[in-house]
Amino acid sequence: MNEYKINTKCVQAGYRPGNGEPRQIPIIQSTTFKYDTSEDMGKLFDLQASGYFYTRLQNPTNDYVAAKIAALEGGSAAMLTSSGQAANFFAIFNICECGGHIVSSSSIYGGTFNLIAVTLKKMGISVTFVSPDASDEELDAAFQENTKAVFGETIANPALTVLDIEKYAKAAHRHGVPLIIDNTFPTPVNCRPIEWGADIVTHSTTKYMDGHGAAVGGAIVDSGKFDWMAHKDKFPGLCTPDDSYHGITYVEQFGNAGAFITKCTAQLMRDFGCIQSPQNAFLLNLGLESLHVRMPRHVENGQAVAEFLSSHPKVEKVSYSGLKSDKYYALAQKYLPNGGCGVVSFVLKGGRPAAEEFMKKLKLAAIETHVADARTCCLNPATSTHRQLTDAQLEAAGIPAGLVRLSCGLEDKEDLINDLKQALA
Ligand SMILES: *Cc1c(COP(=O)(O)O)cnc(C)c1O
Repeated sequence: MNEYKINTKCVQAGYRPGNGEPRQIPIIQSTTFKYDTSEDMGKLFDLQASGYFYTRLQNPTNDYVAAKIAALEGGSAAMLTSSGQAANFFAIFNICECGGHIVSSSSIYGGTFNLIAVTLKKMGISVTFVSPDASDEELDAAFQENTKAVFGETIANPALTVLDIEKYAKAAHRHGVPLIIDNTFPTPVNCRPIEWGADIVTHSTTKYMDGHGAAVGGAIVDSGKFDWMAHKDKFPGLCTPDDSYHGITYVEQFGNAGAFITKCTAQLMRDFGCIQSPQNAFLLNLGLESLHVRMPRHVENGQAVAEFLSSHPKVEKVSYSGLKSDKYYALAQKYLPNGGCGVVSFVLKGGRPAAEEFMKKLKLAAIETHVADARTCCLNPATSTHRQLTDAQLEAAGIPAGLVRLSCGLEDKEDLINDLKQALA
């Protein structure tokens, strides 16, 4: 499918039915797969043949959809996970274990921040957080002897900072480690981090990829470009024999294009089992079929709403990288020339009570712990996800009490603006 444009890949990449086969992806709702001989099955267990034996590790429906996501990102291989959290955990833990260290942008999703700063720490993995705007010198200073990866988000949720992917990739490569990019918010329709030097791309497919608020899921894509053997001391898991598979060495057996995803499936899916259900993978694929049609509308609505809000007297500040006044406008022009996403954040004058009152008055935008859905939704962190924090603590965390995160859906932009207008009034 590589010769086709992204719009065509959204519709047709991945599943390519043969003569007389179902046009739509079949949902292989089966835990297990039948074989004629133990020998046949033995080959699968030794990773000598590819095939399916148990859906905790792999399922054909998932693999069709993963292949589509790999094509969209321009990667060599991909896999689906049960959630975005599982995708980021696997992407890091596949190459970084107890005693290892990662460098991460500090401007990332709260769940991922917690995963890295609290849970991975308990597993013996340490982290150095750096500003998404860090200079080359500041980035270089964050690396240690035991650093295994660099992590960041193209457009961070919820701060909406835009990452200088190329700068981060160059820093990672100077220190012999891959760059992992969570590309959830722009989706490959608006940015393909591999083209800017990222090595591994992750997604919460729960967001725009599904796009209808129907199925929680995640994905990991490997660019196939990172030369693991050139840094084999850092990545023994990929470059030395795996005792749990009769001593195969992933990079030797599957090459740079296949080693990362094969190891992640064979070891982490086997042992942790965070597989996406085939039913959810089917729903995800329905979302992907229209992703290229939906993303421009999310961007159009986000841009219109951001412009409206930035000229409203009751609004103190608007963050949206499509606004010329935004700190990240120049980076967005480079990495997101067709726009970023439909999520806009803004601060209301009047703080927490104003935000609460405003949101109560909205008729179209529902209050939800969710973003990137066909239906417009909003959240005031001060009265929901961050309600245990005082106003001073919120200010220090860069989340003022009056901040509202608004995820513009696919409705008519005039209706959305009129809804905001009446609520602000
Ligand atoms: C939502 C989100 C996640 C977590 O994904 P889940 O599917 O909710 O587990 C990770 N990264 C980003 C950028 C997100 O927005």
